Amino acid sequence: MESYGQMIKDMRSVFLSGKTKSEQWRSTQLKAIVNLIEENSEKLCAALQADLHKHKSEAFITELALCKNDAIHAINHLSEWMKPEKVAKGLMFMMDNACIQKEPLGVALIIGAWNYPVQLTLLPLIGAIAAGNCCIIKPSELSPKTAEFLQEYIPKYLDNDCIKVVNGGVPETTALLKERFDIILYTGNSNVAKIVMEAASKFLTPVILELGGKSPVFIDRNTDLNVVARRLSWGKFLNAGQTCVAPDYVMCPKEVQDELVSSVKTAIDEFFTKDPKSSDSYGRIVNSRHFGRLQKLLEGTKPVIGGDSDEKERFISPTVVTDVQFTDNIMQEEIFGPLLPIITVKDHNEAIEVINSREKPLALYVFTNNKSVREDIRQKTSSGAFVVNDTVLHGGLCSLPFGGVGNSGMGAYHGKHSFDAFSHSKAVLEKSLGMESANSIRYPPYTEAKLGWAGWIMKEKIKKKGIMSFFPFVVMGAMFGLLFKTVGVTASETDSNN
Ligand code: NAD
Repeated sequence: MESYGQMIKDMRSVFLSGKTKSEQWRSTQLKAIVNLIEENSEKLCAALQADLHKHKSEAFITELALCKNDAIHAINHLSEWMKPEKVAKGLMFMMDNACIQKEPLGVALIIGAWNYPVQLTLLPLIGAIAAGNCCIIKPSELSPKTAEFLQEYIPKYLDNDCIKVVNGGVPETTALLKERFDIILYTGNSNVAKIVMEAASKFLTPVILELGGKSPVFIDRNTDLNVVARRLSWGKFLNAGQTCVAPDYVMCPKEVQDELVSSVKTAIDEFFTKDPKSSDSYGRIVNSRHFGRLQKLLEGTKPVIGGDSDEKERFISPTVVTDVQFTDNIMQEEIFGPLLPIITVKDHNEAIEVINSREKPLALYVFTNNKSVREDIRQKTSSGAFVVNDTVLHGGLCSLPFGGVGNSGMGAYHGKHSFDAFSHSKAVLEKSLGMESANSIRYPPYTEAKLGWAGWIMKEKIKKKGIMSFFPFVVMGAMFGLLFKTVGVTASETDSNN
């Protein structure tokens, strides 16, 4: 197995030369990513079709356009993001300059997963570059055509000294993880995340872990189930259910279940026809291991929609199962495929209890017209994201951080959040060498007088809420008014005396 030590050493010396820190370098590389996508969109779509039977519209919406727009957003905001950020100072630091300077961390490692193989490598890369880092990307070996594309085309567009692609599987990733990086972003399952975190701990390297889990959906009474079913089915059966934020299971009151099933059936027929196997809009399971795993999850269940499969094509039809129990196989792990269990609950309070008794999910979806139900669930649960009356879409809004909490991950990215994720926030305090007498309050020998001054300068007050919060401004206004009046009078007296 190749050792990556020398490669990383070389990248670190390029980083230390300062090459990646200039705005011009960052912006040129980001533009190169835009060009890479624009000029090779057909090749990229072909790779995604070969790896996952992804339709080019799906590839465009969920991978190419997303990455291109994120890169353009970064180009447009780069100078603003790179500017030192002024901070509040208070009395003690009144004469000083205090700011936060974002600085690149060094050499980043990005380990991608197979289900969105373009998005999961290029989006973090955009953040790493915008923040001014060197970067190695390790695409998933389970989407080999996309991985080959990235290995061939990234060196043609991007700065080879600073950005590299390493292809391979577990041995290559294991070898990479033996080396020292300055930040690692890993996307994948929580078991491997522990391996990544353990390897990173050897060097105290910070990690961003983009993981998965079972993202629940609660559907309330009195919703328009036709709309609900379309939005739910789109999020669930997109990429044949192999989406980290796909709705994993549905909870709804018993009286909602039958009508929901019939609306989901209508939506599936509309999206993929009555024969989804022949639909070019419907994906395939990535490999036979995952195909077998999904078949096992279906054992003992009674599908009310779908349930058909073809091992040779790794096809599993959009499937819905009802009367599911929390003890069933399908509820023991993230499904990550086109199987949708529905579990009936009494009301949203029971749904909250269920959610809180399990690992914190990557996303939580609520369909309701009732504000108090929505607020109750939002306030009483914790999840990477909380989406009302839709699914999955939050990942397309780059002003929102994308990431999990607890078992669904740590750290977040997309848009400015990616820039922040790959940056260190350096605290900068600049003082002049003057005003030494004011500074002497803090020096020994300590005296009661100095303590008195320190108490005054360091005093923080709890802000008053409501109408009384305006009181200090009224007092200050009155004092300034008095001051101006006095100065004005004195000045006019002086003028008239002259
Ligand atoms: P995967 O098999 O592609 O593995 C991810 C990466 O880990 C690959 O690059 C692989 O080479 C590497 N890897 C695998 N085993 C390893 C080991 N033993 N040591 C070191 N590296 C190893 O992807 P996966 O794990 O099947 O991904 C599916 C999971 O990822 C699901 O849980 C899904 O929800 C989650 N996911 C999360 C996000 C997100 O953004 N939060 C996105 C996509 C997928």
